[in-house]
Amino acid sequence: MRGAALCVTASSTAAQEGSLRICSFSAQNYVREFLEGPLRASFPNSAFFEAALDLDTAQLAGGYDAACLFVNDLASEPVIKRLAEGGVRFLAMRCAGFDKVDVAAAAEAGIRVARVPTYSPHSVAEHAVAMLLCLNRNLHHAYLRVREGDYSLSGLVGFELRTKVVGIVGTGAIGLAACQIFRGFGSRVLAYDIREDPAAVALGVEYVSKERLLREVDIVSLHCPLLPSTYHIIDAESIATMKPGAIIVNVSRGGLVDTDAACNALESGQLGGLACDVYEHEGSLFFKDWRTCQLKEGFKVWDRKFQLLKTFPNVLISPHSAFLTSEALANIAATTVENLKAFEAGLPTLNELKAM
Ligand code: NAD
Repeated sequence: MRGAALCVTASSTAAQEGSLRICSFSAQNYVREFLEGPLRASFPNSAFFEAALDLDTAQLAGGYDAACLFVNDLASEPVIKRLAEGGVRFLAMRCAGFDKVDVAAAAEAGIRVARVPTYSPHSVAEHAVAMLLCLNRNLHHAYLRVREGDYSLSGLVGFELRTKVVGIVGTGAIGLAACQIFRGFGSRVLAYDIREDPAAVALGVEYVSKERLLREVDIVSLHCPLLPSTYHIIDAESIATMKPGAIIVNVSRGGLVDTDAACNALESGQLGGLACDVYEHEGSLFFKDWRTCQLKEGFKVWDRKFQLLKTFPNVLISPHSAFLTSEALANIAATTVENLKAFEAGLPTLNELKAM
């Protein structure tokens, strides 16, 4: 099995007749700290695997009724088939996004899928703003300079957010929270969404077309889901219509931004900066520590595009950690347990995903 650190399982010690058997993938320590208590309180037969779910690791779920998954766990059709063969009948997603889950294949295999739709929009929105502030005020450079004893100021000039126009793409739960924060800074905020939210309008946000938004803003912050309609919503063509030197913030999904186009625009100066918490090919790369891996193992996930992206001084990358607050983790755990209880009771849940 592929580098799959198998964590502790309770099922052998705490097996109880009639109790749902649940296994959690991608269950690193920080996840278990918040999930294990609430989950085991209701479902003592819970196992935790550090491994991410994929075709190789799917066999770990054999004998469990439900698998609890995180954002980069791959539940493609073949994986779903393997899970179903092992007895899994429910997927409890510990996240809002579900672009790695083949919901139609799950329905076909008789597996229900539920997610945690809104666990803490503010956690993600605050991270987007934190990244923008860091990039704009060059804190990532200042931090390293000071550590090295360099207290010079050249190259550290930023701007005030109140003088800027911010464009929010997607004004759902997270986008709306971002609107609130940017309005608090005094920025003018334009928004694009397929649905207008009166709550955003009440904040003084102006809805415009995507084209106008891209043309007029200094900063674009992406908060829409990754769908066929939003894949590479930021590409060479759209970047060319933006103000020279504009900044893009993407804490949503990597596939929203064409990385090649972004790198070209960063090289030419058309893009003034890129702050991203997500990357379009992050799947096998993120959520792991590659520092001490064997070179051969590391090269399996070597990604020239990502290596290039990392080298730009005006690119700030975080490892899909925008959600990572204690509030969000506690909310995720509570809703996940509620979803599993509904499944155990044979009840529907509002958080269930339906195949389109
Ligand atoms: P949400 O469903 O509340 O809002 C999404 C918004 O996007 C909706 O208003 C919807 O109408 C809009 N939208 C859909 N299609 C669109 C399109 N083609 N163009 C423009 N807008 C469109 O979701 P949310 O809770 O605000 O989350 C948004 C996204 O943030 C999630 O889909 C997920 O990908 C991402 N996310 C990232 C993290 C992280 O840690 N980095 C955590 C949670 C969520």
